[in-house]
Amino acid sequence: MILVINCGSSSVKFAVMEPLEQVMLVSGLAEKLGSDGAEIAIKIGVQKNPTPRRSWKDASGSLIKIEDYQKEVYQLGNGGHTEALAKLVEVLKAHGLLNELTAVGHRVVHGGSYFSDSAVITPEIIEKVTECNVIAPLHNPANLLGIEVATQQLPNLPQVAVFDTSFHQTMPDYSYLYATPRSWEKEHHVRRYGFHGTSHRFIAIKTAELLNKPLSDLNIICAHMGNGSSICAIKGGESMDTSMGFTPLPGLIMGTRSGDIDPALITYMAERLNTDAQGVIDILNKKSGLLGVSELTNDMRELTEAATKGHEGAQLAVEMFCYRVAKYVAEYMVPLQRLDALVFTGGIGENSAIVREKVLAHLRFLGFIVDPAVNDKTYGGKTTVITTAGSTRAMVVNTNEELMIAMDTHQLTRTSGAVKSVSFENY
Ligand code: AMP
Repeated sequence: MILVINCGSSSVKFAVMEPLEQVMLVSGLAEKLGSDGAEIAIKIGVQKNPTPRRSWKDASGSLIKIEDYQKEVYQLGNGGHTEALAKLVEVLKAHGLLNELTAVGHRVVHGGSYFSDSAVITPEIIEKVTECNVIAPLHNPANLLGIEVATQQLPNLPQVAVFDTSFHQTMPDYSYLYATPRSWEKEHHVRRYGFHGTSHRFIAIKTAELLNKPLSDLNIICAHMGNGSSICAIKGGESMDTSMGFTPLPGLIMGTRSGDIDPALITYMAERLNTDAQGVIDILNKKSGLLGVSELTNDMRELTEAATKGHEGAQLAVEMFCYRVAKYVAEYMVPLQRLDALVFTGGIGENSAIVREKVLAHLRFLGFIVDPAVNDKTYGGKTTVITTAGSTRAMVVNTNEELMIAMDTHQLTRTSGAVKSVSFENY
């Protein structure tokens, strides 16, 4: 079993996964760490009968979510990451799960240009991840803290880093470079890195399996649409282009992030708002996107409901979101030339029929014809093709970043070698 950890500056998301069976046994979140009200909530899957865990896999062979669980919540005083993980270890021990852990997999946001695959953590790896702090100052220090604390709490287990960026290291230079002075890249690491790579890679592998096609022959566009959104052109299982860039700010319109804007706006608005460049960037990250346009909420479910009731801001935000996604899909036909499927995933992609329908309506010229009966019924964890027979294929596939991290961790701590060729059939 693998403990999967996703460490933020004041939170830790975690899960215990059995990658061979594709089962999640524990999940949870510690939040408000380092301040009053710090707490950890742990959901532990409960077996209704004493059959072995193997039987948790359902008939279709897909991952069983913890539908039936007990939730334990503990206050941590104003404890930090150390106290949170110590409590998790204590609870896992009490449930007899601690001794079953074989490794810890960490989500690490930025691997810079160093990592094109996941890596077993060693002092050299820590050094390289630390070097990436300069280009990911908000995320990597928290991820490193998670690694440090997990190593203290679980010193006998190997630890693996799985990077959000590594999947995109296959992008060609004409795709990842900005048209800025070359010295910016050489001296200051300025280039498109892309993020959400763990999700995009999972979707590529899963879609190949679902379509019964070798990954090396699969061309898809993956639209990961959630609170953070990005889109990726994946050719033969490799990322060719993606909408996030040097940071996760550009590309699609997101919950509170603007996505693409004219960079000249930054100094213009800094002057107007009597702030500095960082002040404007903060607004572009936290007060823009669906929230900024709608002046209502960053939540797509609320927006689509408000839009049907006539809220003009909500209607505009939904239209802008769908138009931007469709424009990127059309753009990514350039690197792909031939498309096996447009895949929707993430909270919005998996659940919002109206968003998928609007995106596909813009893309009729590419041969997409949505099947409304199927599309309308696809939410809440269903994986299916949502277009008619004869249409260019669009489908909904549920992403599972925790499982991808657990699979990488499992593979790297059992054998050495690249993880890209992992097939679900091996698991
Ligand atoms: P994620 O960040 O992947 O968890 O996705 C969060 C986003 O998914 C939020 O904007 C939610 O409103 C959206 N979402 C979840 N369920 C639905 C739904 N049934 N309809 C529309 N949006 C949804």
